[in-house]
Amino acid sequence: MKRLFIIGGLMIDPASGVMAPRDLRVDGGTIGAIAPAGTLNPAADAEVVAAQGCWVVPGLVDAHTHLRDPGFPHKETIASGLRAAAAGGFVAVAAMANTEPVNDCPEVTKYMLARAAEVKAAALIPVGAVTRGLKGQQAADYDALAAAGVRMFSDDGMPVDSADILTDALRAAKRLGLAVSLHEEDRVLAGGGAVNAGAVAQTLGVPGVPPAAESDRVRRDLELAMKAGAPMHIAHLSVRESIELVRAARRRGAAVTCEAAPHHFSLDASAVLEFGTDAKMNPPLRERADVEALRLALSDGTIDLIATDHAPHDPPSKGAAELAGCFAAERRRWPLGSAAARAFAAAANGVVGLQTALGLAMDLVHCGLIAPARLVELMAVNPARLLKIDGGRLSEGMRADITIIDPNLQWQVDPAKSMSLSRNTPFAGRMLKGRAVATIVGGELVYRLQSNEHPK
Ligand SMILES: [Zn+2]
Repeated sequence: MKRLFIIGGLMIDPASGVMAPRDLRVDGGTIGAIAPAGTLNPAADAEVVAAQGCWVVPGLVDAHTHLRDPGFPHKETIASGLRAAAAGGFVAVAAMANTEPVNDCPEVTKYMLARAAEVKAAALIPVGAVTRGLKGQQAADYDALAAAGVRMFSDDGMPVDSADILTDALRAAKRLGLAVSLHEEDRVLAGGGAVNAGAVAQTLGVPGVPPAAESDRVRRDLELAMKAGAPMHIAHLSVRESIELVRAARRRGAAVTCEAAPHHFSLDASAVLEFGTDAKMNPPLRERADVEALRLALSDGTIDLIATDHAPHDPPSKGAAELAGCFAAERRRWPLGSAAARAFAAAANGVVGLQTALGLAMDLVHCGLIAPARLVELMAVNPARLLKIDGGRLSEGMRADITIIDPNLQWQVDPAKSMSLSRNTPFAGRMLKGRAVATIVGGELVYRLQSNEHPK
């Protein structure tokens, strides 16, 4: 492997408190030297990344990604998903267990790791199921999954309804030193709703999901975890009531961490009127007041990390044919007719997010809500800590997982250029400011932005 030099960038490393111009030298898979900018001289045959005007940060980690492999390779394969991740600046992504078959046994975990090893891109961190087949009935074999390489447990996509199974899982995970990530949803309260309960649900004539479908389950699980004396992680918080519950539980000593997804802190429910099922996810986009509460909670430390919840789907899964014309601006037909309303409710939940997450998170920096170092905590330090992986800091001798970000690069989201196999995004056409220009995984330059990819 050639020696790699990253020259002249602004290194931002919250773990060491450094925010200063630095040159870095990567020797093989590790960081060989970090020195004041202008002091490391690359050899003639070395690979050089000129990082002037850029941030050099610990590699970004996504604690919540859905790859569709095994099971749905037309939506995403492990290779396409990991390449999209690298292009979004991620050095590692936690792959959720809701594949087909479900990642509830070591064979599936091993398959995922073997496929990931074949591709030069982001690393795959397997997430094992809490219950077999995500059915909520029988516990998975946590020890066997951990031994196979699983770094977190989650039934994401599904809540764990059984208090007993969840309590046992929280205790087992604590014993193994791993986290449990919880999809918080009371399905009785959610009632098969398709968008947030409120004005948009009424306009479209589709059933709504009340905020309590999330916050009631958050309340229950916080109590369970405190009784079990175990930590818990809450996936994709979406409503202000949940944020308040987390704050209150922490005051009582709960070991709770939580995440927010870029779509939830960037869009409110009205995006559904424009983007249709490309803005349909679970939990749904909420009210403007929820968006503001999430942004504040990201800045004040209540929310620990940003996670994409990247959820690729093909047009048929999103009801594209049945809903054609229903959301185009010139042909609005609301409320939806009964067939269209059924198609909307039946459409798959989720949006792609690996390549837009950083640009959307950078908006928090550009609008003055968070400092650059806080962004690095939210997208690198804290997700690495949650997944118990080596990472989240830059120091000599460490594995070279590094992301280089141009904070001022303006670019437009074009789903056609997505490296994911899927295009379901409510950010098509949006201008973003800030983008990963290079991603280094284990010392290898696995992504570099080509100049023709971002016409300004
Ligand atoms: Zn979920």
